[in-house]
Amino acid sequence: MTHGSYYTQVAIIGGGISGTALLFMLSRYTEIESITLFEKYNRPATLNSSAKANSQTLHIGDIETNYDYEKAKKVSASSSMVANFITHFNYEDTIGFRKPKMVLAVGEEEIAELRARYKTFKVLFPYLELWDAKVLEVIEPMLTKGRKEPILAMGTKNKITTVDFGKLSQTFIDLSQKESCTVDLNFGMEVTKITKKWDKFLISTNRGEFMSEVVVVDAGAHSLLFAHEMGYGDDYAMLPIGGSFYFAKKQLLNAKVYTMQNPKLPFAAVHGDPDLTADGKTRFGPTAFAMLALERYHHMEILNLFDLLSIDRSVLGVYYDLMKDEDIRAYIMRNFAHELPGIGNEFFIKEVQKLIPTLHSDDIEYADGYGGMRPQIIDKKAKKLLLGEAKINTGAGIIFNMTPSPGASSCLGNAFEDAKILCDFLGVDLLKRKIKKELCDEKEYCYVNQQQNR
Ligand SMILES: Cc1cc2nc3c(=O)[nH]c(=O)nc-3n(C[C@H](O)[C@H](O)[C@H](O)COP(=O)(O)OP(=O)(O)OC[C@H]3O[C@@H](n4cnc5c(N)ncnc54)[C@H](O)[C@@H]3O)c2cc1C
Repeated sequence: MTHGSYYTQVAIIGGGISGTALLFMLSRYTEIESITLFEKYNRPATLNSSAKANSQTLHIGDIETNYDYEKAKKVSASSSMVANFITHFNYEDTIGFRKPKMVLAVGEEEIAELRARYKTFKVLFPYLELWDAKVLEVIEPMLTKGRKEPILAMGTKNKITTVDFGKLSQTFIDLSQKESCTVDLNFGMEVTKITKKWDKFLISTNRGEFMSEVVVVDAGAHSLLFAHEMGYGDDYAMLPIGGSFYFAKKQLLNAKVYTMQNPKLPFAAVHGDPDLTADGKTRFGPTAFAMLALERYHHMEILNLFDLLSIDRSVLGVYYDLMKDEDIRAYIMRNFAHELPGIGNEFFIKEVQKLIPTLHSDDIEYADGYGGMRPQIIDKKAKKLLLGEAKINTGAGIIFNMTPSPGASSCLGNAFEDAKILCDFLGVDLLKRKIKKELCDEKEYCYVNQQQNR
């Protein structure tokens, strides 16, 4: 139900996949009566949640060799809520797609590592299969053509692996409007300030002021800025990491093919994916490079950027630790080279050839207009770069979410965590049984059960 009011029970700032998933979660699975969504652009999901910004992967942790067992267990429970949503609400082949996926080990060392990983991870993901060069020659011939080194892959053929998170955001909005809760959608409305006013929050925007009982800031890379302005999250600084892609000029792969992670490197290894927005053309990436911006293809005020970078001794210490490792230094230089206009493909082709040895630099082109920003968080106290999402739950009725990868895959898990916090705070019911029935696997990996036990 849509309505128009300057007073609301819950305000959500940001209409990407995180904000819209929360809107859906609260409207369908809680007794909350009114929710207002604020989005500064005229449409949902124009930034990182757009299908052009991210890799469209539903991260489970089965082929992502940068996840350890515990992280894979948590991510799989959370992201399976998206897969279950797609099945339960009949969005297969419109929002979520069953496509094969695998991680490819190249050379004896990586093969030994992959075999060891298969043994451990098979417990968590019993459907995983090992495919040698002979099998790969049939299912993904481009991986084997012209290849000299031995290879082995671990993968699966029939899971929901690919999601259009932009379409999913719009669908969450559409479904929330069918619920009895009052939903106000404010597109083209930029929140400029949030102020605590008595026991409520005053939300100032470019088009007027609103009052809300509780607030969730799902503004992507901007969330930490709002937190700092309100005196929260001072222990966090941000390292904005841009990610770009390259296209092969034709479709070369049927499956999502990930490469093995170098454990020293902070960001996920390059992969090849059939693209949902470009007729299945193969997209390679993402690259990873530090960028003085919070939104790809948009500029921001430099003062805000300095606030976020919070460059002090502890942040410089994290940069120093990163740069003193030879592998990381080489990685940063390589990624810088990948962005060089006109010649980046000459450097990036080396990453691609690990997947498809016969490809040449003139077979790939920079994917203009594709890519996004990953707001990586630095924990200043622990002097560490945090990989993955971060949440600031103030306990005072306002939550700030920072959502680098796999933020889109975990959108419903994160929304569930926030719904639990908000319902406790407001003293309203959260319909856990309905969530379990519609969004959870009926087993120990059910996210609702996992979170209940914490
Ligand atoms: C290159 C790349 C590849 C990735 N690949 C994957 C992948 O394959 N799988 C996966 O799960 N994740 C992936 N991710 C991560 C994923 O894209 C993000 O985690 C996810 O999109 C974050 O969603 P969000 O809604 O939190 O933020 P965003 O999508 O950034 O949305 C934030 C919204 O807040 C709005 N906003 C900001 N400030 C204000 C304000 N002041 N007032 C009102 N509105 C405001 C913005 O306009 C925007 O719409 C990838 C990211 C990148 C960059």
